[in-house]
Amino acid sequence: MKFQRPSFLYPLFSEITLIPGIGPKTFKLLENKIGKNVIDLLFHLPHTVINRLNNLDLKHCPTNSIITKKILITKHISNFYNSRRPYKLIGHCENFEIEIIFFNYKGQYIEKNFPVNSVVIVSGKINRFNEIIKFTNPDYIYEVSQIKKIPKFEPIYPLTAGINNKLLRKSIGHAIKLIPPDLPEWIPKKVILENNWPTFSEALKSIHIPNTMIEVDNRSLYLQRLSFDEVFANQLGMQVYKKKYQVLNVNKNKRKTKYFKKCLENLNFNLTNSQNECIEDLYSDLCSKTQMKRILQGDVGSGKTIVAIAAILNVIENSKQAALMAPTELLSTQHYNFIKNFTESLNIKVALLTSKIDKNERISILNKISNGYIDIVIGTHSLISDRVKFNNLGIAVIDEQHKFGVIQRSKVLAKGENVHLLLLTATPIPRSLSMTVYGDLDLSEIKEKPKNRKKIITKILPLEKYEKVKMAISRALENKEKIYWVCPLLEETETLDLVSLNNRFKILTKSFSKFNPTLAHGKMDNHEREKSIERFFNNKSRILIASTVIEVGIDIPDATIIIIENAERFGLAQLHQLRGRVGRSSLQSYCILMYGKNISEIGKLRLKTMRDTDDGFFIAEKDLELRGPGEVFGTRQSGENELKLLPFIDKEKLILAKDFAIDIVSTNNLNFEHEVLVSLFNKDEYIKLMS
Ligand code: ADP
Ligand code: MG
Repeated sequence: MKFQRPSFLYPLFSEITLIPGIGPKTFKLLENKIGKNVIDLLFHLPHTVINRLNNLDLKHCPTNSIITKKILITKHISNFYNSRRPYKLIGHCENFEIEIIFFNYKGQYIEKNFPVNSVVIVSGKINRFNEIIKFTNPDYIYEVSQIKKIPKFEPIYPLTAGINNKLLRKSIGHAIKLIPPDLPEWIPKKVILENNWPTFSEALKSIHIPNTMIEVDNRSLYLQRLSFDEVFANQLGMQVYKKKYQVLNVNKNKRKTKYFKKCLENLNFNLTNSQNECIEDLYSDLCSKTQMKRILQGDVGSGKTIVAIAAILNVIENSKQAALMAPTELLSTQHYNFIKNFTESLNIKVALLTSKIDKNERISILNKISNGYIDIVIGTHSLISDRVKFNNLGIAVIDEQHKFGVIQRSKVLAKGENVHLLLLTATPIPRSLSMTVYGDLDLSEIKEKPKNRKKIITKILPLEKYEKVKMAISRALENKEKIYWVCPLLEETETLDLVSLNNRFKILTKSFSKFNPTLAHGKMDNHEREKSIERFFNNKSRILIASTVIEVGIDIPDATIIIIENAERFGLAQLHQLRGRVGRSSLQSYCILMYGKNISEIGKLRLKTMRDTDDGFFIAEKDLELRGPGEVFGTRQSGENELKLLPFIDKEKLILAKDFAIDIVSTNNLNFEHEVLVSLFNKDEYIKLMS
């Protein structure tokens, strides 16, 4: 079967630059956080809908509420002589004095259109100061006759720096017009009727442009429908993939454990029972007739690496080669050093292959891999480059698997015949969902942590307590400890209390210059970033100010404090990952979650969950439960398992979607409408595997 995305979907997969108002700069911002195609924009769903015209009396409106009022203008305070000052309109409404404040205002629009004694209609967020009510940069201001220009129901989107709600609404309004008119229905009719679901297009349209109360009330139905679509698409893809790659392994391994046992002798700790049980799972896979396809789940710091090494050494003892792929150079290097050390007593050859390695050495390593001299090769994406050829690859281990896509996974598998596959992940997926997300991979779990660990103490503090935190860390620094300081990289335009990473870096550098603070974030050049983390690792710096780039598997055991600013902006699973960067030794570690002024009630509950438990699986369940849809910045992952809409349907529907998918794929009934679905959710890379 040859698969091509149906051509009538092309408009949805064109770049968003074709939408009026999205120039190169906006494109860059959107591409990073939302995606670069029209369809990505459509899947960026609003987290709430506000009713702008449903207003309380000014007397009863709390600070921060979004309201719309008619205001009689009484005075202008111009910023003509000092453009750094705001331009202000003073007015009256319901016996209150009103200030309408415009920052960064230049030009003459306001003077011309809203003169003294005119009545204007203003809509936006208010702040109260005693008897004065302030609108700062209001969302809308019109002469009163133009009141119709203010939308009644307005979807509110998760935002990112430089992108405001207005821009998103406008762009998405355009994007909606690009949805082809006659999409086929892929959900069986019976299910649609039972649930009273709208069509895919109706659901998207009504979520983005609610015009009536009915649409607002039905939001959850629309979301359910889309969520089902996504799971269904994912499952179809996974079933196709499974069908293609289920092969029998004729050369089963022998149960050889001598190598691993010998290495264990040099270790200064004992494996936990849970680690041993997982190792048994792996041995039985390796020695069976079917190819291993297993995912090893274990909380951060639970010791997954060593379990994977057990499998690797079994394969090597069976005279085959092993590959271990990790998402970053730093992590690869850490694995390399650990494995080299750990296997020192054996006569086996370990190699590191990253993009840093110079050309001559690379050629030599590539040769040694292809002639079978090297037993284990560890590396980044470089491992799947076409130039890497193995003599006899027996197992591929992929660490932090959610950072890789299905294509990358299948490329490693294609480096040998009947290659066993082991995926490692610390992103705890709730048990109820793991089957849906991972399809039919077998699952092993490391359930307990090494015994020498002290529980990390987690504290919750408002951002205003910054000075207090500063004092606490300065004590720790004097004590030779190391500190991670994490900030969300992008500030939301609306929220003024988000301090950007660079700012924090400057401030901390001033206060702690003798500990050489260093900076790492996703927008730095890879090389620079890794160098910075390395400085922290080698004690040249003792404070690492970072974005979430450090969430992936870095093991720096002597770091004992992690401070997370605006913790309410992160998902719980992500916070858990971040917290897992400390508590990696027998030293007492701390995690300090700092929240901003605008934290919601749910936000507070989420942070409390973090404080009260360290069970990653429990946290992952709570993450789904306590996630106000869209409240958290989605971290876009490159893996194919990224689900955007999962929180909106229940377990029964997840299973239903899976059953449909199994049925369709196993009976070869993958029809046009399914291809459309799979394409829409960008899962077509799976289906390409069939051609
Ligand atoms: P993760 O599961 O997060 O990948 P690692 O494999 O990096 O965890 O292990 C974290 C640290 O714990 C490493 O320094 C490792 O050597 C150590 N470790 C692994 N297993 C044990 C154990 N059973 N007892 C004590 N320390 C262990
Ligand atoms: Mg790890």
